Amino acid sequence: MTRNSWQRLIGVTAAATAVTAALMSPAAAATPAAAPASATAVATAAAAEDVDYDTWQQDCRAVMAEALPYLKERIADAAAGEKQAIVFDIDNTTLETDYGFSYPSPANAPVLDVAKYAQDHGVALFFVTARPDIIKSVTDYNLKHVGYKVSGLYVRNFVDLFRDKAEFKTAKRAEIEAKGYTIIANIGNSATDLSGGHAEKTYKLPDYEGQLS
Ligand SMILES: [Mg+2]
Repeated sequence: MTRNSWQRLIGVTAAATAVTAALMSPAAAATPAAAPASATAVATAAAAEDVDYDTWQQDCRAVMAEALPYLKERIADAAAGEKQAIVFDIDNTTLETDYGFSYPSPANAPVLDVAKYAQDHGVALFFVTARPDIIKSVTDYNLKHVGYKVSGLYVRNFVDLFRDKAEFKTAKRAEIEAKGYTIIANIGNSATDLSGGHAEKTYKLPDYEGQLS
């Protein structure tokens, strides 16, 4: 089974673009409905091969159950004037991408709970994703629509697409720090989300050996 998230996101792009077109032109709404449906079928079939949705949610909850007590303490201990931030991956971290894809994609509930605690306590949320910049606006809309407060969204531009993913993501965390933020946690589901430092703590959600983007 090959699961190239970038290629699969081309499918997402087509679906998301169709939805955007439908929103802008109500008369065209009937036509693009087929695109999200076929994307759903492909994504669900691939993800369901080895791990079911309930298991995935349970595994995500277990990781967030470790993150939340740390974050509560770290947020309460903020130094005077410290600007705290959390960096999140998007696909299969903040949003349910592989399980029942739709647009807008639902939030990954265990992660949204933690994000809401943080944003309600003054922590800035930054999203660093391998998604290409052509779907930046639909991604930004999706995150806000499901309840995330987005302080910054970093997507890959054309040149970034040829860069190592981990290197790209690390560089963006360095940029966030350069804006004066202290990254108290970096939360993702792939090793490439989390390597490279520039975060006080990392929390790894499941990718089931690379099956989830
Ligand atoms: Mg991911």
